[in-house]
Formats: sequence, structure tokens, C-alpha cells
Amino acid sequence: MSDLGKEYHIAGVTVRKVQEQYLHDVPPSFLYPSAKSEDIKAIGPRLAGIDMDEDRDTLVVSIHTWLVKTPDHVILIDTGSGNDKERPRNPGFHHQTIPFLDRLRRAGVAPEDVDFVINTHLHVDHSGWNTVLQDGKWVPTFKNARYIFPRVEQEYYSSTASHNDVNIPSSGVYEDSVWPVIDAGIADFIDSEGGTFLDRFTFLPTPGHSIGHMSVLLEADNESAIFAGDVMHHPIQVERPDFNTVFCEFLDLAAQSRRRVLELTADKHAMYFSTHFPGSSAGYVTRDGEKFRWSYV
Ligand SMILES: [Zn+2]
Repeated sequence: MSDLGKEYHIAGVTVRKVQEQYLHDVPPSFLYPSAKSEDIKAIGPRLAGIDMDEDRDTLVVSIHTWLVKTPDHVILIDTGSGNDKERPRNPGFHHQTIPFLDRLRRAGVAPEDVDFVINTHLHVDHSGWNTVLQDGKWVPTFKNARYIFPRVEQEYYSSTASHNDVNIPSSGVYEDSVWPVIDAGIADFIDSEGGTFLDRFTFLPTPGHSIGHMSVLLEADNESAIFAGDVMHHPIQVERPDFNTVFCEFLDLAAQSRRRVLELTADKHAMYFSTHFPGSSAGYVTRDGEKFRWSYV
């Protein structure tokens, strides 16, 4: 599969996926520890071929960045897991060497062209390319950009509260992928109530997966789209918004935010740009009675 996704034109901007990597052989019982295997099996027939590995027993998960070009700005939403990071407890992300920046260049964007970098939250697989290793030091990858972080995430992951819990997937991430950007004076923070950003974006608080998780709503010309970070990890959750992942930190809140985003996405007929669905990673949510259904575009 190409490492550059197709280009979407919506609400006066273009959106393109820049692939970092795919994770294969993810057991549903790992990703969704509280889900019963018969519940997953019941959803199976409605999942797309690309949602699962060939054996149809394990899941495919994508990690990527959304490249958004407005008439005025180049914006990156979420930045994957990055290269050269020390992740001994997370071997999948340890000392990576992925040609992600070459792919970004093939999409017509050099690092110095980026105006804004948005992290929906500050987990390991959403903030990695914020920084690169240069002469043994972590420095901002996108030197001319303003980086936009949810304030609550910044406060939490800079505190010992987050670092004392080894189950939280961000230990060390703050130090190598967030702090160097703040230290360089190029970070801005979104307050917990969210709000408008530039001329067509709105930050929507969608806490639960992480403490201050934000989604980004795009609206213009009677069209809308939503970049919803880790509100969902796989199309399985469109059918079962009650399923939290093993990476969700505040379970009740995560499930509430997920349902709210599904309702909003379906009712606005917004294009949904996911950060972990495989394939094109983009699509639409529709209502089917009390349930929601997913289709890729
Ligand atoms: Zn994630």
C-alpha cells in the first residue's frame, strides 16, 4: 500500500494521510481486554478486509499523521511515534528508523514549511515526530511551526502523577517529545473547554482516552470533518462504543466521549479522520437505528 494516502478536498482544505507504520497481528483480546470474543466475532462480518489480518483473527492498526493544507497554512495533526526514541518498555517504538519525513516531502511539505503541529493528546504514538535527535539532543522537527497542545495534557504529563504509573504509555515521552518544544518557546496551549482555532477549526474536549484529549472539528462551506485522535482505535468501536482499549486511561469518560463523537459525526455527516483505523483511515459514520455503522472513503 502507498505510504501517501489519497487527497481529500473538504471544507476548503485538502487532507492527506502520511503513513508512519502499520501494526499487524494485534489480538482483539489485547486491544479490547473487556470485550468478549463472541462480541468481536459478531462484528467481524461487517468489518472491511483491510481491518483485519488475512487470518481474520487479528487486527490491523495504523499510525500516521494527517496533513491539512488550508489556503493559508500547513498543519499536521498528530505526529506518530518518531525515530530514535528510547522506548525500552515499548519495543515496537524503540529506536525506530522510519523514512516518515521523506514521505512528508513526497507530499510536497518540507519540515520548515509546517505552520502548526497539533497533538490531540500527548501519548507516545501521537507526539513522536514533534522532535528529532540532533547531535545527541532532542530538537523540534518543525522549527517554523507553532505546536498546539491541550493544556491539561501538558500539565498532567509534566507531573509526577503520570510518571509514577508504569502502565501509562507516556513515561519518557514528555521529556523527549514535548518538553523540547516548550523549551524552544514554540508551544501554545488549548484550555480544557476547547474553542475556535484559525478560521475554520474548533477544538472539542473529548477526554477519557487520556486526561485532556481533544478532537479537532473542521467546518466551512457547509461541509465538516473531524479529526478525533484516539476517541476510537478501530472500526470495531463504531459498533461498540462501550469498548475501551487497553490504552484508555479514564474508562467511563472515554466511552462517553466516544458516543458523543459518533453522534456528532453521524448527525453532521462529517468526514471522520481516524488516527488508528487501517486502510484509508477516513470515512463516514451513519446511524442504523440505535447503532452506528462505518464506511471507508
Ligand atoms: Zn494512539
